[in-house]
Amino acid sequence: MPTYQYRCTNCEHDFALKATVAEYDDGLDATCPKCGSDEVKRRIGDIMISSGSSGDGAPRCTPGGGCC
Ligand SMILES: [Zn+2]
Repeated sequence: MPTYQYRCTNCEHDFALKATVAEYDDGLDATCPKCGSDEVKRRIGDIMISSGSSGDGAPRCTPGGGCC
């Protein structure tokens, strides 16, 4: 399951949300866990795959592997 990185534009707190791609496409209701603001901005390019190590670009998914 991918982790989506967000930054709160209110208090600058960085946090992450785990969601399936389907949930993400559906629109995540992201709010800052620190101040509760919904003024959050996704940090594009910082998607991490939870099973992976440090990100070097493309997520590694094997067909039928069920990692995503
Ligand atoms: Zn905040």
